[in-house]
Amino acid sequence: MIAKSLYTPVCLDGPQVKGQLHAHTTLSDGDFSPAELVTRYEEAGYDFLFLTDHNLWRDHSSLSTDKICVIGGNELGASSREHVLALGFDSGEIDGKQDTQSLIDAVGENGGVSCLNHPHWSAMPISRIHELQNYQLIEIHNTLAFRNGASEGNSLIWDDLLRAGRKVWGVATDDIHHEYDLFGGWVQLWCDSNEPDCVVDALRTGRFYSTEGPRFESIEVSENAILVKTSPVESICFVYERGNHAHRVQEDEDGNRKLLKGARFDRSPELYVRCQIRDTSGKRAWSNPIFVS
Ligand SMILES: [Zn+2]
Ligand SMILES: [Zn+2]
Repeated sequence: MIAKSLYTPVCLDGPQVKGQLHAHTTLSDGDFSPAELVTRYEEAGYDFLFLTDHNLWRDHSSLSTDKICVIGGNELGASSREHVLALGFDSGEIDGKQDTQSLIDAVGENGGVSCLNHPHWSAMPISRIHELQNYQLIEIHNTLAFRNGASEGNSLIWDDLLRAGRKVWGVATDDIHHEYDLFGGWVQLWCDSNEPDCVVDALRTGRFYSTEGPRFESIEVSENAILVKTSPVESICFVYERGNHAHRVQEDEDGNRKLLKGARFDRSPELYVRCQIRDTSGKRAWSNPIFVS
């Protein structure tokens, strides 16, 4: 019997660019000026940075250097609870005081990419997160919220969406306002350039992963299996709609721990599978879901 093919084959590997999607400056309620923040992220090795002040779009491209591309973004929201990132276009004309679904729709109508921010931090009811439609990204790690203790529930919400058949990519961001929000979570895109068009296209199509530190070197999807290669990690867990399949570090007879650098998944999910890894310091990275085709 010939096995039915599960996935559309794809190979995510090669050069990666590192970037921050969610950052506030003194133009709204952040502590750093735009120029100061650009310098901090540039010195930390980031290739691109979206500046996303509250209900404010600015063309920040003049702050770009030969190392870091600075891109104007916007964090839209009428209330303190429901916030949406608008990425990839000049959103200066959008009235951020509209209801959240209208904001998401306005981003889509303008060809942008929208992200539902910090759902756990905002204490959004799960039913409300399902009710909202057409956002492409959801924050699964937000450094500001995480360091305040309210970001852990985000990946639970993400799996709940995926189990319901929704196609949403997960992102890690800093939501930097203060010094102690810096460099806790970011995205790594598989693309050759940090130009805005390439960055936005990779975000839209899910050609990236999110991380607090560990790396996915490659994700190879064949018709019936998924092979990931990673930086040395303690665990590699494939999460799918009915459970998970975990690989953990083993000890040899001398008690030496041999860290993992890759794993394969060849079970048969019905909807999706995603991979989550964790290094010896407890830092995590999340692949995007691979959908059963
Ligand atoms: Zn927010
Ligand atoms: Zn924010």
